[in-house]
Amino acid sequence: MNLAAIQRNCARLRSELGDGTQLCAVVKADGYGHGALPAARAALAGGASWLAVADAAEAWELREGGLSGTRLLVMGALHGAELGAALAAGGEVIVWSERQLGEVRAAGGGRVHVKLDTGMGRLGTRDVQEASRVVRAARASEGVEVAGVMTHFATADDLADEGFFASQLQLFSEWASTMRAEQPDLLVHAANSAATLRDPRAHFGMVRCGVAVYGMDPFGRDPAARGLEPALELSSHVAEVKPCEPGQSAGYGRRFVAEGPTTVAVVPVGYGDGWRRGLSGNGDVLIAGRRHRGVGTISMDSFTVEVGPQDAGERLRGERVILIGIQGGERITAEEVAERVQTINYEITCGLTARIPRVYHRDGTPAQQSPPRSEGAGAL
Ligand SMILES: *Cc1c(COP(=O)(O)O)cnc(C)c1O
Repeated sequence: MNLAAIQRNCARLRSELGDGTQLCAVVKADGYGHGALPAARAALAGGASWLAVADAAEAWELREGGLSGTRLLVMGALHGAELGAALAAGGEVIVWSERQLGEVRAAGGGRVHVKLDTGMGRLGTRDVQEASRVVRAARASEGVEVAGVMTHFATADDLADEGFFASQLQLFSEWASTMRAEQPDLLVHAANSAATLRDPRAHFGMVRCGVAVYGMDPFGRDPAARGLEPALELSSHVAEVKPCEPGQSAGYGRRFVAEGPTTVAVVPVGYGDGWRRGLSGNGDVLIAGRRHRGVGTISMDSFTVEVGPQDAGERLRGERVILIGIQGGERITAEEVAERVQTINYEITCGLTARIPRVYHRDGTPAQQSPPRSEGAGAL
């Protein structure tokens, strides 16, 4: 995990923003699989001034990790004890009803952001009048501070859609300006990474960027085209090489059977690490600077790669294997892996399990390191 890349991606995002717009780095889901705390620190170093998570446990992880002074948005649906815990961590919570305001008051108060649902159809109220009432009621509540108003876009990542994104933006802009007229210090925020990169009119006072912070492309394309640099490399090594005669097979269900003499390399990474079973026979890795085809079924702890003619194998024993990253002139992105299993880059990195040791560096210089837990995969 290259923390310098996260820092540069934040600086890159900041360069898109006007002077009055802050960058909130979204580090929910353990920093999209990258590690919430190291990612948060790197993002702050890159110019982010807010952090965002989804739940109270994630908020506490950042606070206990030493990030005590940073404004922190807890964006998920919270109630009861979890709402209290989020507020106790100094998190700023999202509300859209008077009932929720009551819960915030009962928990001892704190900062709230009122959410208008302009079309996402999840959290927030669709009723503009109701949203305004909640803002006013919150302002009148002892111990409650209305820090912001917000919305979330449903189609910002779909460049083919103009109409729906524009209608959400229009609805929110009108409401936000009414609310700002009543309370000029309100922080107005709407944009995720996609909206940040596609339309400066969506920036307002703050943008909430997740996927782009990690150097992935919110549109599922090549992140390099937008000056984003993937922070994550997923690597392992060749644990065994197996010469195969025609008719010999590799893996569960014999889904790979050698047609001619060939060699198979065994890589100790599997779906137990988050290397999805859907990548069976459907993905490449890099070994010694070259692409090789994954063959056979991906099992829990390993999978196999065909490396070619029989004599090629022994030289490859112990070689590094890049599952996501760059080697030689070749590159495999999270976007490529996602496309192969018909999902999005977000799900690929979020899905990497705790079994994979996260190793941190800054452009190759070791940063903080987690204790070694596995001989298998290592995400750098
Ligand atoms: C996750 C999330 C974001 C960040 O989205 P990205 O597409 O990763 O930039 C922003 N806002 C809300 C409300 C979110 O839940």
